[in-house]
Amino acid sequence: MDLGERLELFSRFHDLFREASQRTNLTAITDERDIILKHYVDSLSCLLSGELDGPHTVLDLGTGAGFPGMPLAMARPDLQFTLLDATRKKIAFVTQAIGEVPVPNARAVAGRAEALGRDPETRASFDRVVTRAVSALPVLTELCLPLLRVGGVLIAQKGPLRDEELEAGMRAAGVVGGELLRAVPFTLPVLGDPRTLVLIRKTRPTPNRFPRLDGVPAKTPLF
Ligand code: SAM
Repeated sequence: MDLGERLELFSRFHDLFREASQRTNLTAITDERDIILKHYVDSLSCLLSGELDGPHTVLDLGTGAGFPGMPLAMARPDLQFTLLDATRKKIAFVTQAIGEVPVPNARAVAGRAEALGRDPETRASFDRVVTRAVSALPVLTELCLPLLRVGGVLIAQKGPLRDEELEAGMRAAGVVGGELLRAVPFTLPVLGDPRTLVLIRKTRPTPNRFPRLDGVPAKTPLF
């Protein structure tokens, strides 16, 4: 597939996304310019972390309507993506888009991160986990680290990040087997919205008691 054909995938996904957004409340962002900047450009910022260079398996945890997973999968056919969300309606759209665009290096899964994190098939099986707008860092570390293999990296897309959230996230990461690599602040082009990529490496196996049961990590965060 040449570059023109690859970029055409974005146009086909965009048509499906606009059409589905009119029928259901898939996204709060409806302005054309905002969709491009806040969904596509923001999703692709993960590539600038330098942590997606390689033939990795990547889990997008809490993908919603496919962000950041769909733009990343369309841009990087050499990576294998699993797009996970607990909401069936959202995964129904992602499944349809993967088939129709098509994006053969992506698959959609309906389910909870806690369940995949306890399932021996999926626990410690991914090279990378990406996640955007799902939860606070201490919750994310408990949901994401069990799913990474040792040596794997979590790329958490956050807005402006308070020191307290970063510190709590790092303490939680220590409990579930991770260490902060770096937090990279940047601003979205045109809009100037502040963003932070938080990169956490899994350095040792996650203790078996994590993740806790469905909903517990968010209800009672580790820190
Ligand atoms: N990542 C997308 C984006 O940035 O547009 C969606 C963000 S949306 C605010 C958060 C999503 O995370 C929801 O679709 C929700 O169903 C999903 N989610 C939250 N907790 C989850 C869990 N424990 N397992 C799987 N999905 C979860």
